[in-house]
Amino acid sequence: MDERQRVYLYLSARKIERIMKARILLIEDNEQNRYLLTFLLEQSGYEVVPAMTGPLGLELAAKVSPDLILLDIQLPGMDGYAVARALKSDSRLKSIPIVAVTSYAMVGDREKALAAGAEGYIEKPINPETFVAEVERFISSPVEEETP
Ligand code: MN
Repeated sequence: MDERQRVYLYLSARKIERIMKARILLIEDNEQNRYLLTFLLEQSGYEVVPAMTGPLGLELAAKVSPDLILLDIQLPGMDGYAVARALKSDSRLKSIPIVAVTSYAMVGDREKALAAGAEGYIEKPINPETFVAEVERFISSPVEEETP
């Protein structure tokens, strides 16, 4: 039995559930959006790693092994499309699901985000009531695997 298995045997189910909540990398330049999304996700038990720019997001993606990346499309400098393409062209990072956060008003954003490699998208302004559930659809869980 490996060390990790041994540790889990002695933890309470609640503690294990907390440890096993997914880590989400949030690439978002707007401070208010970052604050709101972080608040909503942390309230549901997720660990949030924030990144203010695309290049910083790419660096952190390699460092923290997130279970999912929430990616704002409108970023200064390197935009979200370029970030998505860079993530998907990196063999270590391409399996991490990307959910693009697109602007409702920008026609074509969604299609462009999917074409750049995002697995899904959520439109801004986000709905705080449904946001976490929308994100959770893209986090693979061996326990609650969706049946098609
Ligand atoms: Mn932005």
